Amino acid sequence: MSSQYIGTKFQTVFKDKNIIKNKNISILTKWCNKFAELGLSPKLIGGFGGNLSYRTAKGFIITASRVNLKNLSENDFVEIIEADILSKKVVVKGTNLPSSESLLHYYVYSQRPEINAVFHGHDENVLQKCNQLKLPITEREQPYGSVELIEEVGKILQNYFYLVLKNHGFLSLGETMDKAGNLALQIHRSTDTLTVTNGCILHSTPLTHSEASASETK
Ligand SMILES: [Zn+2]
Repeated sequence: MSSQYIGTKFQTVFKDKNIIKNKNISILTKWCNKFAELGLSPKLIGGFGGNLSYRTAKGFIITASRVNLKNLSENDFVEIIEADILSKKVVVKGTNLPSSESLLHYYVYSQRPEINAVFHGHDENVLQKCNQLKLPITEREQPYGSVELIEEVGKILQNYFYLVLKNHGFLSLGETMDKAGNLALQIHRSTDTLTVTNGCILHSTPLTHSEASASETK
């Protein structure tokens, strides 16, 4: 895919332009630094790849557009409080434009209520070895930040915690930021050994109430 970054492809409406304060930003920053350190957020023409977010009471907090995840300042976090994929619009709080993949993150949160962290990175090793590792992968390559990319993800999203965006990167999902981050790391490392524990990428459906009580009595 082209590695040129030309900015966000949606309209951003600022509800206010104050710096975002949230106690969990320090955890997000930790993972952003880790992604940068491992080369999962490489420099592209016009910006950097990779964008990380976590769910909040009002929506989610995501890294800003174009930023280097290695050198984040307090201006580089944006809270998305409303979004609409069809009209390509987001309503935000913060001082900077949100990541170009904000609508993709929004879509994942809307479809997977148990997910509280969405980490997107670019992992060359994973792209090269995803077939050998039997990782789930979108069927078609689509441009970054596009509705078409969201639609591709939608076809396989329900089943997995980790999925590969064809010729582009990956999404690592988790109930917590540490789970999403550690999964991305585990799969990154597995490209050396070519071993992946399937259980970690599969989405296990929670037991229904009756199943849970039946298993408790065993
Ligand atoms: Zn990307």
